[in-house]
Amino acid sequence: MNEYDTHSIQSELAGIGYSFVDDFRDADLVLVNTCAVRGKPVEKAQTLLGELRKEKQKRKNFTIGLIGCLAQLPEGRRLGKKFGVDIMLGPGAITEIVPAIQKGKYQSFEFKNELRFFSPPAPNDAITANLTIMRGCNHRCTYCIVPDTRGPEVSRPASDIIAEARSFKEAGIVEVSLLGQNVNSYGMAPGTGSRRNPLPGYPSFAELLRMVGHIGIPRVRFVTSHPINFDDEIIEAIADTPSVCRYIHLPVQSGSDRVLKRMAREYTRAYYLDRIRKIRQELPDATISTDVIVGFPGESEEDFQQTLSLYQEVGYDFAYMFIYSEREETPAAVHFEDMERRIKTERLARLIALSKQVSLCKNQEWVGRQVEVLIKGSAEEEGFAQGHTRGNHVTIIEGNLRPGIYSAVVDHATPNRLYAHV
Ligand code: SAM
Ligand code: SF4
Repeated sequence: MNEYDTHSIQSELAGIGYSFVDDFRDADLVLVNTCAVRGKPVEKAQTLLGELRKEKQKRKNFTIGLIGCLAQLPEGRRLGKKFGVDIMLGPGAITEIVPAIQKGKYQSFEFKNELRFFSPPAPNDAITANLTIMRGCNHRCTYCIVPDTRGPEVSRPASDIIAEARSFKEAGIVEVSLLGQNVNSYGMAPGTGSRRNPLPGYPSFAELLRMVGHIGIPRVRFVTSHPINFDDEIIEAIADTPSVCRYIHLPVQSGSDRVLKRMAREYTRAYYLDRIRKIRQELPDATISTDVIVGFPGESEEDFQQTLSLYQEVGYDFAYMFIYSEREETPAAVHFEDMERRIKTERLARLIALSKQVSLCKNQEWVGRQVEVLIKGSAEEEGFAQGHTRGNHVTIIEGNLRPGIYSAVVDHATPNRLYAHV
């Protein structure tokens, strides 16, 4: 989503004659687009702001902007003051970038309505592209800063999404990723939970998926899904629409009902497993991945064991695994005591070890099978190209292949790679 926002900002700047450089020492203006979901990205932004402050001390005409989620938070405002930042724009105010740089000193933290109608042009020289279909989040997972930084859910009009997807197709894009914090609640009226009314005049996410799926882009993907709104209609739309990749990222966060409740995730382990059962029934070869947080406040060894057992039961193809990171002013930070770091890192190591075993077994099932690989460029290994399958498996193929879609046969698998030949 930040990449999409960065692309939107770049398109605005290009429109008033700016060009882009690779090194900030060659720039007159540096905009740092930030993530604040965990402590790590905030630390990274802080280090960069320190370097930019030094550059500013050497030069007169050097403007620094802090934009995105960190800028929206009290933590970001403090950093902005400390590092002499000139422009501060929250993620809902990025359409103000041009007036902001014209004024030189500017800040805005509004969630601007105009962002809903903003469509950037297709990216140049790319074969994959992101397309934000909705912004914000109505949930209130107790660990999460996103509702504070990105505000409540706002769906973009379907006609704008379709027009943008068509422009991607004309620009030669072969894979589009539809983005939102919870794409499944696209076009739903305010609220949370599994029974939400539709917004008048908006299609459901399943309908939108069918519409984008029929434009002619060979691959359509989407992230992220919230289990509570991942209904049967969506599974049917994936099954019926050949261009929609059978790759489902369904964040679970924990396998323990006690922890899920304290996270305010709105579903139970049994509900989640029922969604997985339905996916496996309708889409037997779908790739399923997840997000897991370990060391949430009060997570006991027994709770953690339940996460391990759920992981094994689902048999995820891969996962994004995080140590709980306390975020200022979130309900969990206000009400719960953080756990010792040693326990959190030890649990993460155990989960990673299990995930490697499971991924290896899942990846080995592909050996000898034909897969479609979207090559994006060269791999780190000299003489090899790297891409990903429709199921999002990172795939390495020998040869200097040009970017595009190839049919290949898998020869060998490791926990995080497939090795194939064309
Ligand atoms: N909206 C998506 C959902 O509900 O699944 C996820 C969006 S969030 C930006 C991406 C992932 O970051 C979450 O699924 C969660 O695993 C992780 N995350 C969010 N807040 C976190 C925190 N405070 N500490 C550790 N991980 C966190
Ligand atoms: Fe954060 Fe929960 Fe919203 Fe996802 S659903 S963005 S984890 S509050």
